[in-house]
Amino acid sequence: MITYELPTDQVMLEAFLARDISYDGIFVTGVQTTGIFCRPTCAAKKPRPEHLRFFGTAHEALLSGFRPCKRCRPMEPSGTAPEWLRPLLAQIEADPGRRWTDQDVREAGLSPPRVRRWFNAASRHDVPRIWARPAPRCSPGACEGAAHA
Ligand SMILES: [Zn+2]
Repeated sequence: MITYELPTDQVMLEAFLARDISYDGIFVTGVQTTGIFCRPTCAAKKPRPEHLRFFGTAHEALLSGFRPCKRCRPMEPSGTAPEWLRPLLAQIEADPGRRWTDQDVREAGLSPPRVRRWFNAASRHDVPRIWARPAPRCSPGACEGAAHA
């Protein structure tokens, strides 16, 4: 069974207070006083830390009796690419066979750890795993079908 480790509460708290978008999809926060859960990036006023609970997925928050925030819509697929990632995703889609390296990502003006974190989180939510996908290794003849697909 695969288990996913959440960052520590302290890291999540800081990411939540900073509205760090690179943590979007990594965790959601339930607010015990309101019964609502949010993405880390929610624009709503931040509650007191002692009222927060952290969950790895929106599903867990729901099961614990929290309702999704109407503002940040934490039930929407967290694979929905954040603004900063879209240009990179567009490039990946334009050339799906390309293997991206950290250097490529840096040249695109992004931080590789930040991009990797997003893809790692996205892969937990059934978003196709694009990051670090090995380039197809074609032996002569083996990829003919794929080339026409
Ligand atoms: Zn919210």
